[in-house]
Amino acid sequence: MKIYNLGSINWDHCYRLTHFVRPGETLTSSAYQRNLGGKGANQSAAAARAGATVRHIGAIGLGDSSILSLMKEIGIDTGGINELAVDATGHAIIQINQDGENAIILHPGTNRALSADWIDRQLATAVSGDWLLMQNETNLIRETAALARKRGLKVAFNPAPMDKDLTLALLEKLDLLIVNEVELQDLTGTDELETALVQIRQQAPELAVLVTLGAKGACYQDPQQREQVSACPVQAVDTTAAGDTFIGFFLASRVQGAAISDSLKLAGAAAALCVSRPGAIPAIPTRQEAEQFLLGQAG
Ligand code: AMP
Repeated sequence: MKIYNLGSINWDHCYRLTHFVRPGETLTSSAYQRNLGGKGANQSAAAARAGATVRHIGAIGLGDSSILSLMKEIGIDTGGINELAVDATGHAIIQINQDGENAIILHPGTNRALSADWIDRQLATAVSGDWLLMQNETNLIRETAALARKRGLKVAFNPAPMDKDLTLALLEKLDLLIVNEVELQDLTGTDELETALVQIRQQAPELAVLVTLGAKGACYQDPQQREQVSACPVQAVDTTAAGDTFIGFFLASRVQGAAISDSLKLAGAAAALCVSRPGAIPAIPTRQEAEQFLLGQAG
């Protein structure tokens, strides 16, 4: 079984500065780094490192094919990534000041320029039982969910950033909803986990819901079962991409046929390792690293 991930691809341009740029000011940065990012690319990277077959569906600007090489090196099938002339590749200009705070300009670029025809062609090779994974950083979410359902795929949605109306409209068409605590609260209007889950179950009784709870772990609920896992204790260095790592590993593990409780444990170990390292994609562990870490926890 395969994962089709309709997701964003960004260049993150990070600049170290004494302070944030003020109106009319030109500042010279003391350090610069360009990293591959975007929730879509992060989740594809995590699922691929977890050993799943992942075809990324997305778009980049012309002349940015080095992204394809980077993603291929990670093990992602890049055949579903279109090169478009209409806009630049999605990118973030990230200023980091002396206190470690950041100020970000995000340009979605080609992430919002996907065409229905392109997505339709990418999903043409999917077979019943494959999974479609989506975040909310591309266009055509609603249409792709409907198409995937028609083709017999299972649909997982991570509504980040949260769009309440879109997510509520989609609930009944999803197999798996994945949210963090903030997104769950934005969706349901309550910070009570149990109340929120009851609300969602009332609207979509068949839906499986996975809630990541930061340093408290994660909780999974579907009509048959309820599972809760604690986070693995680690020295937190950088929580960037922890949620993306959890999602990629959890779905990869499920696609490979593992039980929900085992998938939660593996995803929790991978996310903990991610938290213990700096950066986003470079911090995402391999499956072997996550399994070894998990064994160490048990021993
Ligand atoms: P979040 O997106 O913040 O809910 O985090 C996603 C997942 O990362 C959580 O479900 C945990 O498994 C893991 N995680 C986040 N923060 C920590 C932490 N401080 N220590 C260990 N694991 C963490």
